[in-house]
Amino acid sequence: MSPAEAQKLLADVEAFCQEIRPIEELCYVEHRPNDQVVPLGKKHDVLGMIVPVELGGRGADTVTYARSLARIGREGTGVRTFFSGHTSIGEYPILTWGSDDLKRRYLPAACRGEKVLAFGLTEPDAGSNPLEMTSTYERRGDRFVLNGVKYLISNGSIADAIVVFAYAKSGQKRVSAFVVDTHAKGFASETLLAKMGMPTANTAMFEMTDVEVPAANLLGPEGDGFRIAMGSLVSGRLSVAAGCLIEPRATRWCCKRRRRRTPPWRRQATPSGRKRRTWPRPGPSCLPPTPPGTPPIGRCRCSAAAAGPRFTGLDATSRMCASAASTKAPTRF
Ligand SMILES: Cc1cc2nc3c(=O)[nH]c(=O)nc-3n(C[C@H](O)[C@H](O)[C@H](O)COP(=O)(O)OP(=O)(O)OC[C@H]3O[C@@H](n4cnc5c(N)ncnc54)[C@H](O)[C@@H]3O)c2cc1C
Repeated sequence: MSPAEAQKLLADVEAFCQEIRPIEELCYVEHRPNDQVVPLGKKHDVLGMIVPVELGGRGADTVTYARSLARIGREGTGVRTFFSGHTSIGEYPILTWGSDDLKRRYLPAACRGEKVLAFGLTEPDAGSNPLEMTSTYERRGDRFVLNGVKYLISNGSIADAIVVFAYAKSGQKRVSAFVVDTHAKGFASETLLAKMGMPTANTAMFEMTDVEVPAANLLGPEGDGFRIAMGSLVSGRLSVAAGCLIEPRATRWCCKRRRRRTPPWRRQATPSGRKRRTWPRPGPSCLPPTPPGTPPIGRCRCSAAAAGPRFTGLDATSRMCASAASTKAPTRF
């Protein structure tokens, strides 16, 4: 991607963010999934950032994609989660392990917003350890037949196709990956609304009952599913990290609060800009004891540095505040 193309993509992402903001704020307050991410993503052509231009995407390199997600993350982790599901763990595995036929069938449509993608690994009893999965597949002629339940899947009930992982029912017990069309017979999904966070993101569970998948929708070689899952999650984790980068303005705000002796963790901005206290008022016992001789973090220009050892070891926001303030030219996204 040339620098001019990268700038154009970042400008498009900015325009997308400006337009999604009021809608996201309303959805957040009303606790409902934001259904405008796809139409607006399509309008600003940001649904296939990492997909090569010849397949209808923008051909973004990793840094430009991470910068885009850092910007999108400022509009809320719900919006960013859509991109993680659709792009980082949806388009990416198809792009990396899919056959030319799979790429041609799914990626251009995903870039145009005609096919939303998702990634289905987690199950009700297999989260941290995906090898405990119970979903199975068996080959019947030119098709695979899949059975099982997947849980906590981002974009799970708005997706048109999901990268799904399952064990072979017989023979060698190895995991394989498939691109499953959600419109296939035997596929049923349910949106999970009772969540503690990310109210604007679509999170779902789905069940496959004898879902038939064409043999051509096998992703990579049979039995290579675990490697594909782990490889995709690396891409997914990068997107989460990029989306969680604190914005420079928020950093400056934290430092300002600190100068006014109001610790930033006592207040938290909501997407609507209203501030509300989310933590109990910290008493002296709330602050962790500091080991003797602990040096202050960085060369923070705000009074956090003066607070020295007391500041060390507090929450991540405060630490970022200190390290960002000590950087002469903070990174801008
Ligand atoms: C909003 C949201 C979106 C998600 N999107 C997707 C998605 O798109 N696709 C997908 O496949 N999954 C998705 N997930 C699932 C996510 O990947 C799992 O939640 C995660 O893998 C943890 O699994 P679990 O929730 O079952 O927790 P568990 O595995 O039950 O773990 C519970 C706790 O026990 C700890 N723990 C577990 N095992 C050990 C151990 N051996 N030793 C020590 N501690 C342990 C864990 O660290 C954790 O704190 C999503 C989850 C959420 C909340």
